[in-house]
Amino acid sequence: MYDNDLTAVVEADRSHVWHHMVQHAGFASKDPRIIVEGRGLSVWDQNGREFTDAVSGGVWTVNVGYGRESIANAVRDQLIRMNYFAGSAGSVPGALFAERLLTKMPGMSRVYYANSGSEANEKAFKMVRQIAHKRHGGRKHKILFRERDYHGTTLGTLSACGQPERHMQYGPLTPGFVEVPHCLEYRAQWDLSGEAYGRRAADAIEEVILREGPDTVGALCLEPITAGGGVIVPPEGYWPRVQEICRKYDILLHIDEVVCGVGRTGTWFGYQNYGIEPDFVTMAKGVASGYAAISCCVTTEAVFDLFKGDAADPLDHFRDISTFGGCTAGPAAALENLRIIEDEGLLQNTLTMGDRLLGHLQALTEKHAAAGEARGKGLFCGLELVADRATRAPLDEKSVAAVVAECDRRGVILGMTNRSLPGLNNTLCLSPALTVTADQVDMISDTIDRALATVLG
Ligand code: PLP
Repeated sequence: MYDNDLTAVVEADRSHVWHHMVQHAGFASKDPRIIVEGRGLSVWDQNGREFTDAVSGGVWTVNVGYGRESIANAVRDQLIRMNYFAGSAGSVPGALFAERLLTKMPGMSRVYYANSGSEANEKAFKMVRQIAHKRHGGRKHKILFRERDYHGTTLGTLSACGQPERHMQYGPLTPGFVEVPHCLEYRAQWDLSGEAYGRRAADAIEEVILREGPDTVGALCLEPITAGGGVIVPPEGYWPRVQEICRKYDILLHIDEVVCGVGRTGTWFGYQNYGIEPDFVTMAKGVASGYAAISCCVTTEAVFDLFKGDAADPLDHFRDISTFGGCTAGPAAALENLRIIEDEGLLQNTLTMGDRLLGHLQALTEKHAAAGEARGKGLFCGLELVADRATRAPLDEKSVAAVVAECDRRGVILGMTNRSLPGLNNTLCLSPALTVTADQVDMISDTIDRALATVLG
């Protein structure tokens, strides 16, 4: 355990740090939590209290767990040798990671580096817009996104955000982004089930395309499994129809793997569970498990080729740069992160432990009236909480937060989706590191069981 006196740190934090996603009006009355150390799934706070982190750093990030010396060493060695060079120059880890990554992504061909999930998605949006200008006189520029999906915090990505509470105070947004309906069968919009429901939800995308005009729609951007919008696993029948629709109307398919990517669902990428062939895949969080900031926008060679154009025209290439896309710490960490997942068999562990976790959560839906539905794939699971089992009325935010707080009190850190609009903030999120053991899975779900009983009776 960290043995320094952290009183001064806590005071500095309280006085000077503006925390993410926090209403500071009530925050100052208690000590902020400072996480000072981590090993495996455990983290310790400033008071030496140990927690089991069941959400991998709060937001589905630390896929290989805390305290990985081999990643730290790979980053250290790389930084001493060559830390950074901007833009057009390559780097050793950048080239090697791109090559290694693409072996996990048949059909994909080029890696464009950036720093965050939002930025990787912005890159894809800009590529789509530029393709519209290059090939379609600017007309095929609209980007479709799905209700409840999230793609980032910048004004461009917020314009593609299916969670209104995230963008409603930040308008005006960027024009040319159009929403399609969500596909959560538990909150059904059509009187169908299973595969038929999945096909119908995808048909709703076609209806939007026809309404907007297929010659105005350039791309469809989707999370393979919606994360912050409620851990929504699309029903059978959804993805094949989505792919068919994109091909029919010459619409580029952009899959946002910022959460699902790099092992989280038990395959390298979430889309690989569904046999689809995207044109863009964006990724961030698990790429280097939070050991360094890195994101990637990966495209096919066909997309890349569109940007070769006329070599003599100074505007006819992708006019974009990220200063810190030239940092070598990211790809150095990502390369070692990938090796760990491969050598430690973490995809298999994700499948086995994911089944176990989902099984436990499903058992909770039989035991607790408030546990409405358990959903998930691999180690990416959610438990939707309801106030009324029959009507499926969502549990209010305060009660969901109380369950999360009770788990925290019992030493397990959980997440919850969304935080402000009634009806959206009702799913407990679980995404432990891919190294999680059976005992840890059992302990995490046992803690939720007890917390539900304590808070909701
Ligand atoms: N895409 C998805 C699916 C996300 O969940 C997130 C963040 O949670 C982002 C994009 C944005 O990533 P970042 O916060 O790294 O910009």
